[in-house]
Amino acid sequence: MKFISTRGQAPELSFEDAMLSGLARDGGLYVPSEWPQMSHDDIAALAGLSYEDAAFRIMKPFVGDTYSDDEFRGIIKRAYAGFRHPARVPLVQIGPNDFLLELHHGPTLAFKDVAMQLIGQMFETTLKKRGERVTIVGATSGDTGSAAIEAFQGLESVDVIILYPHGRVSEVQRRQMSTPTASNVHALAMDGDFDDCQARLKDMFNDFDFRDRVKLAGVNSINWARVMAQVVYFFTSAVSLGGPHRKISFTVPTGNFGDIFAAYVAKRMGLPIDRLVIATNQNDILHRTLQGGAHEKQGVTPSISPSMDIQVSSNFERLMFDLYDREGSAVQQLMDALQDNGTFELSQGALAKLTAEFDSGRCSEDETSATIKDMLESTGELLCPHSAVAVNVARAQRGDSAVPMVALATAHAAKFPDAVEDATGIRPDLPPHMADLFDRDERITRVPNDLEALKAVILERSRI
Ligand SMILES: *Cc1c(COP(=O)(O)O)cnc(C)c1O
Repeated sequence: MKFISTRGQAPELSFEDAMLSGLARDGGLYVPSEWPQMSHDDIAALAGLSYEDAAFRIMKPFVGDTYSDDEFRGIIKRAYAGFRHPARVPLVQIGPNDFLLELHHGPTLAFKDVAMQLIGQMFETTLKKRGERVTIVGATSGDTGSAAIEAFQGLESVDVIILYPHGRVSEVQRRQMSTPTASNVHALAMDGDFDDCQARLKDMFNDFDFRDRVKLAGVNSINWARVMAQVVYFFTSAVSLGGPHRKISFTVPTGNFGDIFAAYVAKRMGLPIDRLVIATNQNDILHRTLQGGAHEKQGVTPSISPSMDIQVSSNFERLMFDLYDREGSAVQQLMDALQDNGTFELSQGALAKLTAEFDSGRCSEDETSATIKDMLESTGELLCPHSAVAVNVARAQRGDSAVPMVALATAHAAKFPDAVEDATGIRPDLPPHMADLFDRDERITRVPNDLEALKAVILERSRI
């Protein structure tokens, strides 16, 4: 399988090269040249498999013969060995036909581990084989950075440098990034918000001299391999609930549009999905886009679900590519307009396709807190604020449909203890393996929102 850029001007790449390069050189994102198909029988045959065995079958068409079957099975096995639940991503019932998909049993307590642990293993295998090294630079609203640092710490062939918005991540998130002691991982606290971090990261990728000099690689959800890893749990959870013999609906708490895009990919691959619901917090650019077709940036307002405090959802570009019949030039024009004017308008045809595939809902801060409280009282489940946004929107959207609705629980409550305590009066405990997080020493570098200053710090830290 080949990978092509959403802007149509960059060379086609193999799976491995697309994974290592992150952003395409024309500024676009890599997507598979076609969607591989899983037949009804292929999907039915996933029933009863371990998460690892299902993951192998679902991801194999994307990786092709990049790795031998044994090698790929080993990669998957190592990736999920650190998850503290035998199901890896268990389903929990919260209503007659309502479910939570718990994605937070990995080492850093957020769903980012599902993809990051896998790509850590894939990077290491590929780079060792090629005798190469890379410098990974990532931007994070909190969870991607901690998952990347955890997944790559101590690996021989990579240095990892993470940019996070100073003062805008939770203390647990910050400490997960600043306390690992391996010399190849670095947390940089940047002035600005997440969109600023992501913009500087894109600037670095578009600075080809710098990019080549430090062998820049990306692990944000602009990296196709991350989306691929997330496709798996839509299949496994649907099969647990009776798919492909019945349709299932999903509500996904959305920021950068990576997770919900993975659900869309599962649908394109043949999984019978009834409704895909985008759940946003008060930073609701995607909800507004679905309502009217205008994709208009407004300032980011910090919320109690900070991992969704985003106005530029990078992966939305991957969807736009499909909405515009895979015309790279159309995507390029819209993204130029967004860059220049902070807004673009979807065509009637594109908007019609968008609303045919997705529904959306917005959850306010008060509704988020009320949902955390109500879920604790009615089910005994303690939710993180992001998961609460999903549950709130899922409830509002499900109506009296007989189709099972799965809301994604994307982080553990203990990752956002202040918001959970404010809502319930209960301060969630960290799990035993990180009980001493608040006693560990921190290592942080403050950096300005300035490309040249950032490049200098990265050159100094990278071992290339
Ligand atoms: C990253 C994140 C999200 C948003 O996921 P996207 O793929 O960026 O849409 C939601 N919840 C949590 C806890 C996250 O870490």
